[in-house]
Amino acid sequence: MKVTLIGYSPEPEKVPGMAAMLTHSKTTPEALYGLPDQQTRKVLEQVMELGHTSVIEHTCFTFAISGVSRSLTHQLVRHRIASYSQQSQRYVNLSDPQYVVPPTITEHAEMAAEYEKTMALIWKQYNSLLKLGIPAEDARYVLPNATCTNILVTMNARELLHFFELRCCLHAQWEIRKLADLMLAEVKQVAPTIFQHAGPACESSGVCPEHKTDCPRYPG
Ligand SMILES: Cc1cc2nc3c(=O)[nH]c(=O)nc-3n(C[C@H](O)[C@H](O)[C@H](O)COP(=O)(O)OP(=O)(O)OC[C@H]3O[C@@H](n4cnc5c(N)ncnc54)[C@H](O)[C@@H]3O)c2cc1C
Repeated sequence: MKVTLIGYSPEPEKVPGMAAMLTHSKTTPEALYGLPDQQTRKVLEQVMELGHTSVIEHTCFTFAISGVSRSLTHQLVRHRIASYSQQSQRYVNLSDPQYVVPPTITEHAEMAAEYEKTMALIWKQYNSLLKLGIPAEDARYVLPNATCTNILVTMNARELLHFFELRCCLHAQWEIRKLADLMLAEVKQVAPTIFQHAGPACESSGVCPEHKTDCPRYPG
């Protein structure tokens, strides 16, 4: 899995801070934008504490994600306040076997070997279908959830906070949790005030919405 933050709104924290000031000010937006960063950051901190997070919708982040499974992206695209562009299985011939192996399978040498054999067989069938002239859009029906894919995703900061609450949680599936953890590490570097308390709900609010007492992070 590779995750790269390839773009984000200019002044990712200044604009939301200035937007918050605007709501309580007679001053023009342009004049507020000219204020020192320190001042806009302080206001941003205050509104984040109060949970008035609509102002951070002005800041968007774009991530390039590669080498993840279709299982992962199926979960990812359920997050609706976002934009996606994904490698097509209609227009791209996936003749080389590229798939994700879950760690629980890698740990068992015997099962891992069986898994590899299954994947080899699947790709053999896929390539046979292509050779027979079956279009890629139909041949792909035999491909597994494990198939690797590449996707570009853009989310605003408010949606990202929600995404991290759900997907950094230990109850999230391991692959999307790994992705969410990597995305969080990236955005923390460029927007530390916005993402200061970001993470699973138990860390950001101290409450487990799942009430899963068996979780090592359960607040108790
Ligand atoms: C641990 C876990 C297990 C899951 N298991 C399953 C499962 O078994 N089956 C399954 O189908 N899904 C499952 N999901 C997916 C889940 O149901 C959501 O589809 C997904 O997490 C997207 O979250 P969301 O709908 O809150 O937010 P987003 O789509 O990211 O939207 C953000 C917020 O915007 C608001 N919003 C967005 N669209 C609308 C709308 N149309 N109407 C009103 N408000 C809206 C909501 O407040 C929403 O919380 C699972 C998710 C997790 C984290």
